[in-house]
Amino acid sequence: MRVFCEDCKKDMTRISGTYALTGVTKDRRTDKINFDPGSGVPVVAYVCTQCNRIKIYSAVRLGEI
Ligand SMILES: [Zn+2]
Repeated sequence: MRVFCEDCKKDMTRISGTYALTGVTKDRRTDKINFDPGSGVPVVAYVCTQCNRIKIYSAVRLGEI
């Protein structure tokens, strides 16, 4: 898959591996944010080597997981 940076108009480079946007909840009493590694969205990521912008896409929708 070819991905372009909207800022630089350059090709972005795939970061190897699959990652996740982890679900979070907020404890209203303490304002503490709790990370829930049991939930979230699998993603693949691309980085722009010019400006370091990162783009992520659903790994499920791309059929990568
Ligand atoms: Zn860029």
